[in-house]
Amino acid sequence: MSETATTTSASGTEDLLVRALELDAADPLADRRELFALDDGVYLDGNSLGALPLHVPARVQDVLTRQWGELRIRSWDESGWWTAPERIGDRIAPLVGAAAGQIVVSDSTSVNVFKAVVAAARIAGEGRDEILVDATTFPTDGYIAASAARLTGHRIVPVAPADVPAALGPRTAVVLLNHVDYRSGRLHDLPGLTAAVHAAGAVAVWDLCHSAGALPVGLDEHGVDLAVGCTYKYLNGGPGSPAYLYVAERHQAAFDSPLPGWNSHADPFGMTPGYAPADGSARGRVGTPDIVSMLTLEAALDVWDGVGVDAVRAKSLALTDFFLACVEAYVPAGRVTSVTPTAHAERGSQVALRCDDAASVMPRLVERGVVGDLRRPDVLRFGFTPLYVGFADVERAARVLAEVLAENPGD
Ligand SMILES: *Cc1c(COP(=O)(O)O)cnc(C)c1O
Repeated sequence: MSETATTTSASGTEDLLVRALELDAADPLADRRELFALDDGVYLDGNSLGALPLHVPARVQDVLTRQWGELRIRSWDESGWWTAPERIGDRIAPLVGAAAGQIVVSDSTSVNVFKAVVAAARIAGEGRDEILVDATTFPTDGYIAASAARLTGHRIVPVAPADVPAALGPRTAVVLLNHVDYRSGRLHDLPGLTAAVHAAGAVAVWDLCHSAGALPVGLDEHGVDLAVGCTYKYLNGGPGSPAYLYVAERHQAAFDSPLPGWNSHADPFGMTPGYAPADGSARGRVGTPDIVSMLTLEAALDVWDGVGVDAVRAKSLALTDFFLACVEAYVPAGRVTSVTPTAHAERGSQVALRCDDAASVMPRLVERGVVGDLRRPDVLRFGFTPLYVGFADVERAARVLAEVLAENPGD
């Protein structure tokens, strides 16, 4: 780096620091941060594991000691355990633009992908033998879809989301897509792609893992058929907290689960040998819910009370814009390249930077309190959770990144 560059970047640092403080002072969500257990580092990995809301441990303690320890079996009724999957689904619903009664919280995302893809193939009916799967997908979705295809006699067609319209045809049964690409942070066109899938007579299944809690999804508005998502990323439900399954009301009667456990039976305590599915979102249940994780998630969702998803989206875009501006100002040209789209319409709530020595850079960032993650081989991934990341955090993360890169001459 030349003398001039150093001088420019020093004055740039001051400007950006001032700007960060102004943005924090004007941030309508700034008060949310104190609801979370955070240290004085910068946590940019909430897209892998959301931070703990401070009130949650006491609530979980009550679940363990009173609901389980004292009430025992009575809690299935008296503490609302039995109805938790649908009740918590209805709490998540407004965050993804769904009316009540269409979301059930249950199992992992992987398991819900299986339920959704098989059920969607059954809804699509005979004569359609292709399942289109996002070729850039988070691996579990691809693995599960491939197994679902083998079981149902379909063929997997891997396709980049942008190429889906051209790949659709009379043989397409199901299209499984990610709303936001977990690696690049690219936001895909859910309304447009869903409309294209429907025009071809196929069924659209969306994975919302990297969008729910960070941006508006509009499941009902855009006519999505089925959707799945996890709750431990932007929804802060805790490690391994159960995922959710959305089945649009118009498909509920035809939703034929490949995992029809007793919990999804119309009369679960009838204990009859024959299966008869429950009505509504309960049809997506399988077996006994993991109550402790489920109620941990329910408590965690309190941080959304009074928060609108549009405000979250506005802050998310401002955070990622500001991070890109700080990186541009601080990091020597050519050391990192953003693989996250600059257009707002194509950006989720993360920034992914390609960097040749990413594998040695990320541990050094973590050592200095800036926690992002590495997506091998060469991507530094930073997630921006609008409820608890501020603009001064963003400025600091970019500054520390520039320092680490200056010490690490690159490979
Ligand atoms: C995080 C994530 C998952 C996680 O699936 P689990 O079953 O919870 O391990 C699945 N799909 C996508 C797109 C993800 O981002």
